[in-house]
Amino acid sequence: MTLPPSSDQRRTRILFPTSAAHAAILAARHQAPYLAGASAAQLSWNKTHLWPEQAVSLHALDELQGCQRTPNYWSIGALARLSELTSHPQLCYELPALQSALLGVGAPGIRHIATLGGNIGFAGDLLPVLLVLDAQLDWRLSDGDIRQGALTDWLKAPPQHGLITCIRIPLPDSEQCVQIEKLASREAFNPPLLNIASSWNWSQPEKTRLAAGGAGLAPRRLSRCEQAFSPDSAPADSLLPLLASDLPELADQPLLQVAANLLLAQRSASRL
Ligand SMILES: Cc1cc2nc3c(=O)[nH]c(=O)nc-3n(C[C@H](O)[C@H](O)[C@H](O)COP(=O)(O)OP(=O)(O)OC[C@H]3O[C@@H](n4cnc5c(N)ncnc54)[C@H](O)[C@@H]3O)c2cc1C
Repeated sequence: MTLPPSSDQRRTRILFPTSAAHAAILAARHQAPYLAGASAAQLSWNKTHLWPEQAVSLHALDELQGCQRTPNYWSIGALARLSELTSHPQLCYELPALQSALLGVGAPGIRHIATLGGNIGFAGDLLPVLLVLDAQLDWRLSDGDIRQGALTDWLKAPPQHGLITCIRIPLPDSEQCVQIEKLASREAFNPPLLNIASSWNWSQPEKTRLAAGGAGLAPRRLSRCEQAFSPDSAPADSLLPLLASDLPELADQPLLQVAANLLLAQRSASRL
């Protein structure tokens, strides 16, 4: 039975599925959120004073764990903790921009409980870098279907109660240069004003990927801006209108110019 959220946190019942398939069924049946590290979930419930009647704990699901390198990509279980990833030498060596973004999430204590799947579910700070790294997701639906697709498509229409099981990150090629910048008003957790990430490839400009996120901004690829950049021309003059169409929420705000400046600076830095 589905009950409305309660203002009494003691009433939240934690459900313990026996498998990922079972978790997706329970979440849909009870309209219940997932609990991975629970660091973001608790934050928002404390803020709203509304606790769900049920929540589905993913804690014991070993099939969502792990971090392996295959010949073409890194395969990271949704339950991988951020601290586990920052202490993985080969992953950090091959994906240094991901390491920097991971280290920018909260304090060490938070990174020790926070998971990669939870950061995606929370639309957290890792999304821009995952988007420019062209991350792919595997997820389960409550009807038993297993799906695969690009993170960028998942974000456009997140499937209801879809359970992310794995995040796959293609190995960057030697020409690729990934840059990130998190603009926050203070160190403690406060949604950052702006998160900008970019991936540049000077010999294959069609592979340029740009992404943004931040307070009040659903994380997304900046597809108009991507089309406008070429190896020989940075559309400094035309960048603002392009950005405004990618980020209409920022149109007419000073932050739009900041975003444009960050993109141009990242582009220059990628040439060094
Ligand atoms: C003090 C503090 C500082 C923080 N600082 C930052 C910060 O700097 N940057 C930042 O991005 N976040 C920050 N957070 C928020 C949070 O810690 C991170 O976003 C973290 O990565 C969330 O992971 P989690 O496993 O705790 O997610 P949870 O809280 O367990 O879940 C978050 C959401 O994701 C969904 N979810 C979880 N797992 C899955 C899955 N496998 N498939 C589908 N949906 C899923 C849940 O239903 C829920 O809606 C902070 C939190 C605190 C308390």
